[in-house]
Amino acid sequence: QKQALTVLGLGDMGSALTRSWLAAGHPVTVWNRRPRPVPDGAEPAATAAQAVAANTLVVICLLDDASVRETLADIDLTGHDVVNLTSSTPAEARALAGWIGERGGRFLDGGIMAVPSMIGTPESGAYVFYSGSRAAHDAHAEVLAAPAEVTYVGEDPGYAALYDMALLSAMWGMFAGAAHAFALIGREDISPVEFAPLIVGYQRAMAGYAYGTASQLASGDYAEGVESNLTMMSTTNDTLRRTAAEQGVSIELLAPFMALMERRVAEGGGRESTTGVVDLLRA
Ligand code: NDP
Repeated sequence: QKQALTVLGLGDMGSALTRSWLAAGHPVTVWNRRPRPVPDGAEPAATAAQAVAANTLVVICLLDDASVRETLADIDLTGHDVVNLTSSTPAEARALAGWIGERGGRFLDGGIMAVPSMIGTPESGAYVFYSGSRAAHDAHAEVLAAPAEVTYVGEDPGYAALYDMALLSAMWGMFAGAAHAFALIGREDISPVEFAPLIVGYQRAMAGYAYGTASQLASGDYAEGVESNLTMMSTTNDTLRRTAAEQGVSIELLAPFMALMERRVAEGGGRESTTGVVDLLRA
C-alpha cells in the first residue's frame, strides 16, 4: 500500500495533481469548497477538517494565499505535514510557514513549473520547486515525485515562491516580446502561424543571454565579453520605435526596458551590455 494523502482544492491544477497520485497508486482524500467532479478513485470528504484529519500529508492547491488561510483557519494541524502548492509571494510563504508551525504542522511550500496537462507526464519536463521543512520533504519524497520532478531549493520557506516568481517574470518578458512581434507583422500579408517558428527559434537562440548577464553580475564587470554594446543597442531602440510607429503599433511593452537601457548609457554604461539594468531595478 502506497502512502495516502489529502488534497484540498479540485481546480484545474488540484485535479491534475490528484489524478497523478491516484495513477501512481496513492489513496487520495479530496475536498473542494464548492461541488466539483471528484477524480475517479478519490475519496471525497465533507469538510476541509475531515479531509485534513484523514491523512498526515495534506497538499493544498487553492487560488491564493488568502483562500489557504481561510480554509485552514479552524483546523487542527498537529502532526500534519502541509505542502502548499498554491502560488504565493515569498513573504506570504514564510508567514504561512510560521502560522502552520505554531499550530503544530511541518510546512513545505511548492511552486509548480508546469500547466495541468504536464502533470504526471515525466517526459513533459514539468517540475516543482520546493522549500521549507527538509524533514517533511525527505519523509514524502516518493509522493512528491509522482506529479512532477522535485527541485528542493532549501529550508527557507520563501525560496520556492521566489524561484517560481522569478521564472514567471522571465516568461512574462518573453510573452510580451512575442506579443509586440505579432503586432508588428499584424497589418501585413504575413501569416502569424508561419511567423511563429521564427519567434520561437530566435527566442531559443537568444535565451543563453542570461548566462552572460549572470557572469557579469558575479564578476561586477559589466563590459566583460560584450559583443553588443549598450550605445549600439540604444540606437536600435530608436529603430524599434520608428518601426512600431510605421506599423501603427504601440511601443508600451518595450518602452520601460528601453528607458532603463538609455538611462544606463546616460550614466556612462555605453560600453556595457544590459546587465546594469538589473542594478537600476534594484535601486
Ligand atoms: P482554479 O481556478 O482552477 O481553481 C481554484 C481553486 O481554488 C478551486 O478549487 C476553488 O474552489 C478554490 N478556491 C478559491 N477561493 C477559495 C476560498 N476562498 N476558499 C477555498 N477554496 C477556494 O485554479 P488552478 O487549479 O488552476 O490553480 C490553483 C493554484 O495552482 C493557483 O495558486 C495557481 O497559481 C497554481 N498554479 C496553476 C497553474 C495552472 O496552469 N493552472 C500552473 C502553476 C501553478 P471552488 O471550486 O469552490 O471555487
